[in-house]
This record gives sequence, C-alpha cells and structure tokens, in this order.
Amino acid sequence: MKVLVIGGGGREHTLVWKVAQSPKVKKIYCAPGNAGIAEYAECISIKADDIEQLASFSHHKNIDLAIVGPEIPLTLGIVDEFESKGLRICGPDKSASVIEGSKIFSKDLLKKYNIPTAPYATFNSPDEAMSYLKEKGTPAVIKADGLAAGKGVIPAQSMDKAEEAIDNILTKKIFGAAGDRIIIEEFLTGEEASFIVFTDGNTIIPMPTSQDHKPIHDNDQGPNTGGMGAYSPAPVITEKLQQKIMDEIMYPIIRGMAAEGRKYRGILYAGLMINQGKVNVLEFNARFGDPETQPILMRMKTDLIPVLEAIVDERLDQVSIQWDEKPAICVVMASKGYPGNYQKGIEITGLDKVQSMHNVQVFHAGTALKDNHVVTSGGRVLGVTALGNNIEEAINLAYQATSQIQWEGAYYRKDIGKKALKISKY
Ligand code: AMP
Repeated sequence: MKVLVIGGGGREHTLVWKVAQSPKVKKIYCAPGNAGIAEYAECISIKADDIEQLASFSHHKNIDLAIVGPEIPLTLGIVDEFESKGLRICGPDKSASVIEGSKIFSKDLLKKYNIPTAPYATFNSPDEAMSYLKEKGTPAVIKADGLAAGKGVIPAQSMDKAEEAIDNILTKKIFGAAGDRIIIEEFLTGEEASFIVFTDGNTIIPMPTSQDHKPIHDNDQGPNTGGMGAYSPAPVITEKLQQKIMDEIMYPIIRGMAAEGRKYRGILYAGLMINQGKVNVLEFNARFGDPETQPILMRMKTDLIPVLEAIVDERLDQVSIQWDEKPAICVVMASKGYPGNYQKGIEITGLDKVQSMHNVQVFHAGTALKDNHVVTSGGRVLGVTALGNNIEEAINLAYQATSQIQWEGAYYRKDIGKKALKISKY
C-alpha cells in the first residue's frame, strides 16, 4: 500500500512511525512532514490545508489511504474532496468535522442529546454578552466559536479578564470570523482527561485514556500551549467511569451525529472534566490529540492500518485492538519563548544518544533539516516518549532521554506524569 499522512507535527511523526511498522505498507508520503518524519516517509512540500493539491497529488501517485492529522483540512472538507475523486481517506467529512469546527454546534448537540457539559449561553452582541457575564459573575470561560489555533478558550477568574476576552473576540476580532460568535460557560473544576475513540459511525473502539498538560509551566502555571506533555493511561478514568463515558457520552454523540445527518467516521476526541465521579464534556476534536497520540500509539500493539481501513469501509465491528499494559509518557521539549515568540533554526544535539535507548522514541514536532543538521523550526520541537513497567519508570526513562537532548534555549516541564502518581480516585 501507498499511504499519505497529512500534517507535520509530533502527532504526524507518531502516525508515520506507526504506519511504517505495518507489513501492508510499502511507501509513505507525508505533507509537509518534518526532519524526523523524513526518516520513514518522503516529505512533500504541500501544506496540510491545501486540500485540492493534496487530492491531486494522491490521485497522481495512486495513494491507497490518506490519514489526516490536523483539524483544519478536515473542517475545510478534505474528506469530501478526496472521496469525490474516488480516493480513500480516513477522517470525518466536512459536515461531521463541524463538531470541532464550531464550539456552538458541539455545545448545542450536547444539550440536545442530554450529554453533560457546563451550562452556557451564546452571543454575537458584545453588549448582551457583557450583561450575561455581569449576571453570572466569574470565574467564567469565554470561547470563540470557530478554530483559533488552540487560543480561542479564555478561562477568566476576574470580571476584568472576562470583559477583556469578550472585547478582544467580539469587538476587536482578534480571531477574525472564528470569533463572530462566542460561548460564555460555567467554569468547571476537577481533573481533565482525554478520551479518544476510533469509530465508523456505528461501532466505537476506545483507545487507552490519556491526559495532556496544557499550561507552559510546572504545576499547571502560565498560559496554555498546544500541550507540553501527556501520559497514558489516565488513572482518573477508572474502568467503571470508562463504561459510563461510553454509555453516556460516546454512544449518544455518535448516534446523535448520525441522527443529524452527519455520520461520524474517524477519530473522535472528547476533552473531559472529571470531578467526584461526575464527567462533563469540555470539547470535541475531530482527530487524534497532540501530544496524547505519542504515548497512546506507543502502547498500540495492533497494526494501525487495518483499523483505519475498517473505519473507511464501516466494518469496525470486525476489528480488535491490543494495547500494551505498560504506561507511556511524552515530555514535550519546546523553544524558549513559546507559546509567545521564539527563534527558529537552532541546532539540536544529542538525538543520536537517545536513538539506541530501549522503549524510548523521540517524535519530532517543529524540526527541519539544515545542512544535514536537525534544527528547531517550531514552538513545540520534540516529544520524548517512553514506555515503562509502571508510570514512575516511564517518567524516569523519558526524563533520562530528555536530559540527553540539547539546544540553546530548550525548555520543558519537569512534572509531566506527576499527577498520575498522585491520583487514586476522584
Ligand atoms: P477546550 O478547547 O474547550 O477544551 O478548552 C481548552 C482548555 O480550556 C481545556 O483543556 C480546559 O483546560 C479549559 N476549559 C475549557 N472549558 C472549561 C470550563 N468550562 N471550565 C474550566 N476550564 C475549561
């Protein structure tokens, strides 16, 4: 088979690494890819959101299966574009990807199907939003409706911060049309976890649970990022809670999407808030999480390709997936200054020292090749991922590997996975 992976971050490196292990796969292309991906795949300089070029490339190369990493091509309708040309692609179509593309759509859907989520109201008028905010008070969470590169959610502890967020999104339009409408919702507390499933619109197969670490600094301090690390499994989701999430969230939403005429086939990610056995949905994503994919796919024993093909063919009921019992963690190494401005093009050393380490994989996110050297080219640069006999061992191994890799200004959190050690029950 010839496979095309779309995207060029840590999630896509992990997908390419996993796909490369499939005996069914003879050739992998990745658009646009990165320095790590180039080890397994031919990187093509087509942007992930150039859906027409990607479809014509796939047609020309007779690609047997395309796998989409990021959300933007999905919401632009890459699946519809490929399918209209008779090409096979794994992911939700445009009408189903709206579950991530519009937060208002997804909140209204949750409400319609009685799935627990924070109480909310939606606005396009700044004045109405302000008066609702005054009535409800803070803390509150202000969310832009559309995609805003992970920056569109502002948890506000004070009235000033909430008013500023409303003003920035609805009046100053800092997110453009993605901020034409907003949600103001109740601030929830508890433990967050990611629950990601494979689904063909009928059958649902959950992946192991995981937990991301969004804020830039240790102990969840500082501004949110794309994710500074993740571990799997997330002990906050007990077996009993997992069943409840399947019964009360995943099945109703997949059935609900079908009932809305938006049959969902692909990867569905639910961001959850868990507090004393109560689970609320924070958001849905229409794709694998980044960096959750890194530890999750490290634990996947089964070939990924037949699973993705079964999604496309709607025969996921015939598939079974084996997972490694061992936990895994991923420590994200980032450029100094991220999530703000940062320098690019700095040489990375020590990658060779880590290559021979057993149960360790370094997934590249923002890297590029310059004169045969791997250099930084993004905010999140590497995801150092390790498997261990227990979470403590996985943490130690990942940090041991991380300490071998250096560049000027490399930054990483020192507490990834610590929460998993603390959690007994919620
Ligand atoms: P979302 O993209 O909606 O998941 O939001 C990004 C992050 O904002 C989440 O991972 C949470 O940390 C936080 N967040 C979103 N909604 C809420 C809420 N209702 N209460 C507290 N935190 C929230």
